[in-house]
Amino acid sequence: MRAAASTVDGLPTAAADGSVAQWTDRYTHAVMDTFGPPQRVLVRGEGPYVWDADGNRYLDLLGGIAVNSLGHGHPTLTAAISAQLGTLGHVSNFFGSPTQIAFAERLLQLAQAPDGSRVFLTNSGTEANEAAFKLARRTGRPRILALEGAFHGRTMGALALTHKAAYREPFEPLPGGVEWVPFGDVAALEAALAPGDVAALFVEPLQGEAGVLPLPPGYLAEARRLTARHGTLLVLDEVQTGMGRTGSWFAHQLPHIGGGVVPDAVTVAKGLGGGFPVGALLAFGDSTASLLGRGQHGSTFGGNPVASAAGLATIGVIERDGLLEHVTGLGARLRRRILDLDTPLVEAVRGEGLLIGIGLSAPVAPAVASRALAAGFIVNPVNPTSIRLAPPFVLTDEQAGTFVDFLAELDPAEVAA
Ligand SMILES: *Cc1c(COP(=O)(O)O)cnc(C)c1O
Repeated sequence: MRAAASTVDGLPTAAADGSVAQWTDRYTHAVMDTFGPPQRVLVRGEGPYVWDADGNRYLDLLGGIAVNSLGHGHPTLTAAISAQLGTLGHVSNFFGSPTQIAFAERLLQLAQAPDGSRVFLTNSGTEANEAAFKLARRTGRPRILALEGAFHGRTMGALALTHKAAYREPFEPLPGGVEWVPFGDVAALEAALAPGDVAALFVEPLQGEAGVLPLPPGYLAEARRLTARHGTLLVLDEVQTGMGRTGSWFAHQLPHIGGGVVPDAVTVAKGLGGGFPVGALLAFGDSTASLLGRGQHGSTFGGNPVASAAGLATIGVIERDGLLEHVTGLGARLRRRILDLDTPLVEAVRGEGLLIGIGLSAPVAPAVASRALAAGFIVNPVNPTSIRLAPPFVLTDEQAGTFVDFLAELDPAEVAA
């Protein structure tokens, strides 16, 4: 006997209904042009691979922008999501669920957050930063600092923290009081904090959207010392760097990055749900966690049991399969192999774990990325001179090696043309 119909009209089944060209045409008529036309229309994924509607396979070295940490179609994640949806899919925040509670506890434990710390669950990174922005406002202090080059999201509050003028200016007026301090400049930070009226400093341990830029060694520790002295909250935006991406649960836990800092708040999203939309604000210690009081923030979907199950399953697989060690080892080997290439194209390799920026000797990143795509590799030209890689943690050395071989054979003259 057939179970109750497991599909309905209107759900496309893989590529059945058209080619990449046909889907792309439909996309442009139905989906807003904010992202430009899609590079390909993808229909299926498995492990580190995805397939487009024409049947072409790609090695996904971007992982949905640091999201698909377990790769595509992971059986444990899929089962956890399905089981939770079939048990209890959603409840309002008038109610709690064991999955939500266990997820919040697990995040605090991974972050080694002190007693009294608490979590606000969101659906995305920008919302996690939005919550942190509101929390910072509750200090009553007027100024907020972020770093030049910072990216914190696209909703109005998170956008107000984002440095790139082209993202912000069309949407002004934005929430006020935000200033940017020069990247990695301790003296400038000290001067900006000195008046004692700064609510919070927002920092990415590595700036992802700026091209995978690490902070100068010691900067975070100095930022912690100075913010503590002036009563300013230190908010670490680990939306891109967190949840194992750098080989540690959080980038600031790496001794050479964080130097043992204990922040006041951390935001996460991207890899948190292994591909399921979920984010979180972790507030460290009771006094910070209490800044947002009853009724002062909310979210219909935040804490959704299915999203929480996705987070718990993703964390569980990373732990069970020893993926943090794999990310550290593979990341180091991959960065070394790219750096050792005998090509004038590659000038530098930056990053930690599997968040990698390849610095090019000329502004040819878009051309390199489009050659890569044609050869079956998804990478991201994060700026004109940098290629970003943020592949699934399940990537093997052999699979990564196929991209190194591609780079080795790429003719610099061809991409310069
Ligand atoms: C991607 C990103 C965000 C925004 O997250 P969304 O889920 O796209 O809203 C914020 N901060 C950093 C550092 C990011 O990389």
